[in-house]
Amino acid sequence: MNKQRYLLVVSGPSGAGKDTVVSRMMQKHPEIEISVSATTRAPRAGETDGENYYFLTNEQFEEKIDRGEMLEYVNYCGKYYGTPKSEVDARLDRGTTVVLVIEVVGAANIKKLYPESTLIFIMPPSMDELRARLRGRGTESEEAIAGRLKRAEEELPYAREYDFSVENRDVDACADEIYRILKQRQQD
Ligand code: 5GP
Repeated sequence: MNKQRYLLVVSGPSGAGKDTVVSRMMQKHPEIEISVSATTRAPRAGETDGENYYFLTNEQFEEKIDRGEMLEYVNYCGKYYGTPKSEVDARLDRGTTVVLVIEVVGAANIKKLYPESTLIFIMPPSMDELRARLRGRGTESEEAIAGRLKRAEEELPYAREYDFSVENRDVDACADEIYRILKQRQQD
């Protein structure tokens, strides 16, 4: 058994629905565990510390970097985001499937560290649909939405570097497809 095959990395532009798809997959397959990232962005309404993210100050985040506690981290739209080592390694040692929902640069760094991990890119059906979803969410200012759309356009070409890309037209179908890919890789 290759432990790295139990590491699943899911990326996709903000608004592509990756959090919803991953939640659906975890409802169906409760043995899968999610890695909770650390960030310096402010919590959105309804987000809980330790559940959605570990919300840290800049100083706290930089301390963790200095102590070597982050597996990977990036600066995204002016805020730090990173994967604490403590979220991943112990679980892989136990043979638990861990899923990371992170952006493209972090995903590429994980692939360097864990070449056998599975990277899946979730594609939105279209840019128009993406724009509509970001607006519909109602959690971001127009300026923040514009920043995220620009970032999405920059991210789409990275899909090629992923092991697989899956279009999110239907949450259930997308969740099932990701799970199927993961199981296939674990059996190979
Ligand atoms: P949001 O602010 O919408 O929650 O996240 C912004 C972006 O940061 C999303 O693409 C999300 O997947 C990504 N992200 C969240 N956590 C991490 C992380 O630990 N590392 C990296 N590299 N990206 C992350």
